[in-house]
Order: sequence, then structure tokens, then C-alpha cells
Amino acid sequence: MPRPTRLTIDLRALAANAQWVRSLAQGQRVMAAVKANAYGHGLIACANVLQPLVEAFAVACCEEATQLRQAGTTKPILVLEGPFDTADVIELTHLECWTVIHSREQLGWLREAKTAGTNPPSAIWLKVDTGMHRLGVSPEDVSNITDELRSLGVVDIVLATHLAHAESPDAPLTCRQLQRWQQVAQDWEGELSLLNSAGLTEIGMSQAQQRSLEWLRPGYMLYGGRTPSAGDKPPSQAVMAFDSRIMAIRTVSVGETVGYGGHWIAQRTSQIATIPVGYGDGYPRTAENGTPVLVENRRCPLAGRVSMDMITVDVTDCPAARVGSAVQLWGQELAVDEVARHANTIGYELLTRLPERVPRVFRSLSRY
Ligand SMILES: *Cc1c(COP(=O)(O)O)cnc(C)c1O
Repeated sequence: MPRPTRLTIDLRALAANAQWVRSLAQGQRVMAAVKANAYGHGLIACANVLQPLVEAFAVACCEEATQLRQAGTTKPILVLEGPFDTADVIELTHLECWTVIHSREQLGWLREAKTAGTNPPSAIWLKVDTGMHRLGVSPEDVSNITDELRSLGVVDIVLATHLAHAESPDAPLTCRQLQRWQQVAQDWEGELSLLNSAGLTEIGMSQAQQRSLEWLRPGYMLYGGRTPSAGDKPPSQAVMAFDSRIMAIRTVSVGETVGYGGHWIAQRTSQIATIPVGYGDGYPRTAENGTPVLVENRRCPLAGRVSMDMITVDVTDCPAARVGSAVQLWGQELAVDEVARHANTIGYELLTRLPERVPRVFRSLSRY
């Protein structure tokens, strides 16, 4: 019997979430972020489901774009980090990808590729640094650089920026970024792109300048990740379920400890269940005592340190718990974001750090 720890990817939920995003998009174009293996959900399976529902895909790098093209993806693919050298420009053009250009160095590589006989990718997304200060050209340089891009034969130029604190629409940083963006946008006749998931749900279509919403770039919300205003009842569904089963169960006396370092101490006679999932499977080692784990659909507290291959859970208040009982680490009934809070991180990190070791089982659209 295989180890019962697995990831179930519900492709129907993914499709439903994409439809929901479409309804929020109010006719604007949707670019689905599928970087980092579709946020850990499986790049190709997810892209195949999303392809008819979105206008384009976004990946981080050339390697991810290559995987998509090799799998037969025909929709436009934007490479968010853009080229790392001239050879990458040539690769991107051959893959018929769009690319972000965020620096003068990258512009230089476009020029070198052109000299070497390769035209730039058919569409360039010029990244503007409105205040995140990670990537992008400064707003004052936009008109110079777009002129240079046109001189290289680029016709389609999209201006894009990224918000550093989109989940707080009223934060001074967000206001500053939106203000700078509006300045850039008002002088620009072409296409624009501003909002990711949190931007879309927290800032939305009304507050941000309508015209600046021509391309939406949702990622996390497609996979059922919660943004702050979604509260406990998100309109999107978790696409991933991380499940296992109890492999052992024992009674631990008052004062005895559980796990490495003895950091959990029994305050009462306790039933401790051991589950075959650990940090080697992507369950965060930083998860603290009390992190919820669903056992037979009941929330039970994590008890003791997460090991590489196992965790221990206090099931004293779950009398139904037996060897073989169903366990969920996160999924529909227990949001990954909640587990992440107990592990001092965010759901994005938990989803994208799941190793190959854990098998992914896909529930296909047709199975329903
Ligand atoms: C990853 C990414 C997105 C998607 O962000 P989510 O928060 O997952 O919606 C959008 N834009 C850029 C530039 C990104 O890197």
C-alpha cells in the first residue's frame, strides 16, 4: 500500500475559480499567473484547464515558458522576469513569448539580439517601478524607453506595475503607487496592467483607474487562496487538498512530552496520533503547537515539533480517531492561509514548496 500522503488537485474548482475571476474582470483581459508550477498545483494540468478561460499566461522565466510550449499551450505567455541575457531574448522570440522588460540592461540585450538577426518578442511589457523598488524602470524614463523599443520594431507595448501592499488599499504606500501609476497611465495611449489577486479583490475596478485595468494578472485567487476581504467565506474554492491518514496512535500520560526537543507536554492523559507527513513533504516545520489539523473532519491541535516525515496531533477530543482515519493538512475545510498563519508564513509559500515526493492526483473535469 502506498504511503497515504497525497495532494489532490480539483481541476473543476480551478475552472470555477477562473469563471469567478472572469465575472470580477468585467470584460477586462485576464492573464493567469501559473509560475512556480502553477503555485504548486501542476503547471501543465492547470494550464490545460485555464487555457480556454483566460487570454494569456504569466510565468516567471524562460524555462517555465518552454514547458508550457512543449505541452502545446498556444495562448500568449508572458515571462515576468524577462531575459537574463541576449540568448534568452532569442529563445523568447523563438518560443513566441511576450516578455517583461524591467531594466536598461534588458533593453541592451534586445538590441544585441536584433543586431544578431532576431527581432524582439512580439509584445513587450515595460515594467514601471512605482514604489515597490524591486524591478522596473522609473516613471520618468518611460517615454524614452518606449521610443527605443519602437525603434527596435516593437509595436505592442504594455505598461505594467506591481503593488507592494495591494491587500491594504488605503495604506500610504498603495496610495503613493496608485498616484504615480495614474500619472504614467494618463500619458499613455496603449495597454496597461496593474492588478494581481489582492489588487483585484481589495482595490477592485472602481477605485483604480478603469483604463489601467486592461490586463488583470491574478494568480493566488485562481487556486482558491484567500485575500483579506474574502474573510472565512471566500467565493473561490481551494483547488488543492493535502491529505493523509493516521499511521499510529498512543496514550501519553500527564507530564510526558511528544516529539523532538520535548516541546509539547501533556497536561492531561492524551491520545496522540502520528501522521506520515513532515517538512520533507512540504508541511512547514515552523508550524507551532496548536496548528489545526483535520482528523475525521474535526480540528485537532498539532502537538510537538514537525519532523521530516511525520507530525503528531492531539486527538484526545476526537474519539473517532483510529489508525487509518482520514487527515487533512489543508484543503476545502481548512484554508492553507490559516495553517500558514500558525507557521509564520503565507499560503503562497506553503503551496509553492511542495516537493516531488508527494504524489499529485488530479481530479479531472470529466470525472464529475
Ligand atoms: C505572481 C505575480 C502576479 C500574481 O500575483 P497573485 O498575488 O498570485 O495574484 C501578478 N503580477 C506579477 C508581476 C507577479 O509576479
